[in-house]
Amino acid sequence: MSGLSPILKQATPVLAERGEGVYLYAEDGRRYLDFTAGIGVTSTGHCHPRVVAAVQEQAAKLIHGQYTTVMHRPLLTLSERLGTVLPEGLDSLFFVNSGSEAVEAALRLARQATARPNVIVFHGSFHGRTIGAASMTTSATKFSAGFAPLMGGVVVSPFPTAYRYGWSEQEATRFALRELDYVLQTLTTPGEAAAFFVEPVLGEGGYVPANTEFMRGLRERADRHGILLVLDEVQTGFGRTGRFWGHDHFGVRPDVVITAKGLASGFPLSAIAAPAELMAKAWPGSQGGTYGGNAVACAAALATLEVVQSENLVANSAEMGARLREGLAKVAADTPAIGDVRGLGLMLASEFVDQDGNPDAAAAARVQQAASAAGLLLLTCGAAGNVVRMIPPLIVTAEQIDEGLALWREAVASA
Ligand code: PMP
Repeated sequence: MSGLSPILKQATPVLAERGEGVYLYAEDGRRYLDFTAGIGVTSTGHCHPRVVAAVQEQAAKLIHGQYTTVMHRPLLTLSERLGTVLPEGLDSLFFVNSGSEAVEAALRLARQATARPNVIVFHGSFHGRTIGAASMTTSATKFSAGFAPLMGGVVVSPFPTAYRYGWSEQEATRFALRELDYVLQTLTTPGEAAAFFVEPVLGEGGYVPANTEFMRGLRERADRHGILLVLDEVQTGFGRTGRFWGHDHFGVRPDVVITAKGLASGFPLSAIAAPAELMAKAWPGSQGGTYGGNAVACAAALATLEVVQSENLVANSAEMGARLREGLAKVAADTPAIGDVRGLGLMLASEFVDQDGNPDAAAAARVQQAASAAGLLLLTCGAAGNVVRMIPPLIVTAEQIDEGLALWREAVASA
């Protein structure tokens, strides 16, 4: 008898059979309101009919158009269409399969294009699980412990995590930018720094949004020193934060954008986008992969983009996010164990703390488990695992938000 490795650790005991919209149905017939969306992936809802139809049609035509051997139309069309939503000037795309691989692709591009060895990442960031991306990940030790030696050339600077420091946003930002200048004097010369890699909202690190002053500070230093500003929009992109890209909240111009998750409604697809002149500095043939830009995944992404646009999912994310946030704030006001509610759009979280304000992972776990037992699927995040996040599909309705909030209030009270 063979079975699954214990390397896998599952957040809920649910054995999913099918999904429809914001609901997952288990093999035992139970229905769950899915506020995890497969870790922020199924933004169009589970099995959106237009995505299903596009996938079925493409699968019957060509499943594997191997892009280093032959080109195929879905990849060409997707590269064009993404141009309509990408920041101005980021007109050249390269596709791989996962967020981690796209982070690695951006890392390779940054090193080749600048001929500089180091990358600067921000404390609390998650960039992925491959050794390169894990070496750039500082959201929790569990993502790198026991994997040493990690990749070299990674320098860590503070992120403006105001709540954890007990500071105002302004104080935390001033600290983070001063420390960044110190890092550029003490840990890497600017001339050896290829890129800043930053999430517009720390994801796995606890749903902490960056802010305009911090992002402008990065842009300004990037311009001054010829360092690339790479935005990891794997979790924040495609409408998740109530704007198309997370960085749209801050009005900064990125040099490279990394996208995955919400891009293809659950099919493995990711991409990096950069100006053509920058991409031209990568060495042709130095990157690729067997499955990158898979034809069915590209068809799913094309349908996803159509649904996001025609169903106004970005506006819905902003509107439903405001409703969810208001409800979470009300529950927090009645619950001393919830120290903070934060996030952007439909990327929201509640942080659990003990009487002294220290992280309370046990409380977060109890609430997460009580919620899933009551029919609301949730995930935790944060270094200590004491932050419970909500990332429903972007198609979520006001009734479903209210249904989720009622289950949340119940779970918090019972745990
Ligand atoms: N970057 C960010 C910001 C992420 O949230 C994630 C996944 N949680 C990744 C990279 C890695 O993506 P993947 O799991 O698809 O490799």
